[in-house]
Amino acid sequence: MNDKVALSPEAQAGSHCPPAKYETLYRHSLEDSDGFWRDQARRIDWVREPSVIGNWSFDPVDIKWYEDGVLNLCYNCVDRHLPARADQKALIWEGDEPGVVRSLTYAELHGQVVRMAHCLKAAGVSRGDRVTLYLPMILEAAVAMLACARIGAVHSVVFGGFSPDALRGRIEDCESRFVITADGGMRGGKLVPLKANVDAALEDGPRVDAVLVIRHLGNEVASTGRDIWYDPEAWADAGELPCEPMGAEDPLFILYTSGSTGKPKGVLHTTGGYAVWTAATFHFVFDYREGEIFWCTADVGWVTGHSYIVYGPLANGATTLMYEGVPNHPDFGRFWDMIDRHQVNIFYTAPTAIRALMREGDDPVKAHNRASLRLLGSVGEPINPEAWRWYHQVVGDGRCPIVDTWWQTETGGIMITTLPGAHDMKPGSAGLPFFGVVPELVDAEGVVLPGAASGNLCITRSWPGQMRTVYGDHERFVQTYFSTYKGKYFTGDGCRRDEDGFYWITGRVDDVLNVSGHRLGTAEVESALVSHPLVAEAAVVGYPHDIKGQGIYCYVTLLAGEEPSNGLEQALRQHVRKEIGPIATPDHLQFTPALPKTRSGKIMRRILRKIAHNEHDALGDTSTLADPSLVDSLIEGRRNP
Ligand code: ATP
Ligand code: MG
Repeated sequence: MNDKVALSPEAQAGSHCPPAKYETLYRHSLEDSDGFWRDQARRIDWVREPSVIGNWSFDPVDIKWYEDGVLNLCYNCVDRHLPARADQKALIWEGDEPGVVRSLTYAELHGQVVRMAHCLKAAGVSRGDRVTLYLPMILEAAVAMLACARIGAVHSVVFGGFSPDALRGRIEDCESRFVITADGGMRGGKLVPLKANVDAALEDGPRVDAVLVIRHLGNEVASTGRDIWYDPEAWADAGELPCEPMGAEDPLFILYTSGSTGKPKGVLHTTGGYAVWTAATFHFVFDYREGEIFWCTADVGWVTGHSYIVYGPLANGATTLMYEGVPNHPDFGRFWDMIDRHQVNIFYTAPTAIRALMREGDDPVKAHNRASLRLLGSVGEPINPEAWRWYHQVVGDGRCPIVDTWWQTETGGIMITTLPGAHDMKPGSAGLPFFGVVPELVDAEGVVLPGAASGNLCITRSWPGQMRTVYGDHERFVQTYFSTYKGKYFTGDGCRRDEDGFYWITGRVDDVLNVSGHRLGTAEVESALVSHPLVAEAAVVGYPHDIKGQGIYCYVTLLAGEEPSNGLEQALRQHVRKEIGPIATPDHLQFTPALPKTRSGKIMRRILRKIAHNEHDALGDTSTLADPSLVDSLIEGRRNP
């Protein structure tokens, strides 16, 4: 499980960070944190440079970075690039149907952002107001985020796949009086009626002053008195609209977490620290080189889309690709086809997509050339070594390094990863801490575990990209992240550190199994199952067991075209036993055509745990589930432990 994949000389050539430099910079970031983050702050153009760098405490909780600095993040992502990059593409967009492409140069992006900013101001949006964005993956989504940042409004992007109820809850929670939406969006050939959903969300619900509607599909939609149809041409002659100078600690955005572990939290990020964190991580982790095309397949409704489709790439003057649709439309070769057509150099996606594509075999990948690829990335869940190897060997032809980036909505940007020019890789391990990040493993009592160990992952020092509060509920912020282990930020994830100091995320702490006194990560058992040639995906949870304390309950999805059988069930038990050891032998296996996932594609183990525990009436918040109907079929197929 610990085999290394060595860094190739090609990956090192021209890298921003060779091995020795990582060591030096990492040491500098710890020994002289303020000096290090003062240097990194030069990635940003400030209206007033900060004199105070880090000023934070985890007990009591109070976090500030660059507090007397003044800046505007839209300026940093757009205006400042105009002298050198006016004609360079900033954003490339491809629609749901292959080959429908639009793009914006930095000069055009500037024009679009200024127009929308004028329109927002005219609609009554002022500095500090919350604006809810409920949009498809279109260029205007990035434009709207930047327009908010330009005028100092706080955006709250709600994923376009959410229901009217989920949208209403998020509008109410952050008391937003403005919504930006589109007539409709397209995903996998299906129309998503965004405007109709907004109308439904606002019916008898929150009072908003205005709904700005972007015409995207031209589908028929109803109009209400609060609607403003957005016409960029109407603002073409409105002239420049200067960027609002913002304090570094002024809020930039609110974003609700995925809801894998409970009711989503309104994570609040501020301006200066987030700007530096996303700019620096993008530069080092993706080792971005001038002129390259970067593609992150996330939706802007998730933090990955915020930090690595919009802010990180644009702050670096990169060209970033946005895709409206899904990986399997019109077929399973879509990603690879797009990589060839747009000559994508860096590709960043999630394990859920990798496993779904792997399930279809190598042919759809091999049908495309992919020669432009230089670097691959993964984010969102632990990536099973099996899926890692497929990504590396088949998608990357064994040439491209993989960065497996561990981070959270709360962390603002990447926290643990290998750097492509600096480190060997270990399939399934996120790798090493980014500059300034100090991970610590503790046991249930909070005792710090040194060296190679397994425990609960905490971060002991603040970093500039850290969230500052849960919007409207600072107590929840303190309780959730700082009360379990006093003086430390608790991530909620379980983790193993190996003898080389590499970190292996083993799953949510709530999901870690305790079988006859042995701690087992759900991720380890899942990876063992996925390494069987017929298994596409697996989710593992514990359930109360009279003798062992906890038993192991496995939900298994087979490769396309494979059928479950008793023989296969036995074979899978044997397989896990052989891979990990007798202690990990599954007690129960349930075959299912699919696993319950959040809208961002993460397995919702808490629902599976409830089903395994036979607590079907207490499933908790299921509003962020992608396919709620799956729950009934899972309950029906449940095995009696
Ligand atoms: P909620 O906080 O509402 O339960 P969530 O934790 O899924 O939702 P996110 O902030 O989107 O919301 O996800 C962060 C979590 O995703 C991490 O805590 C971790 O469990 C998992 N994760 C992200 N990247 C990786 C990775 N590279 N390896 C392992 N796990 C990862
Ligand atoms: Mg979380």
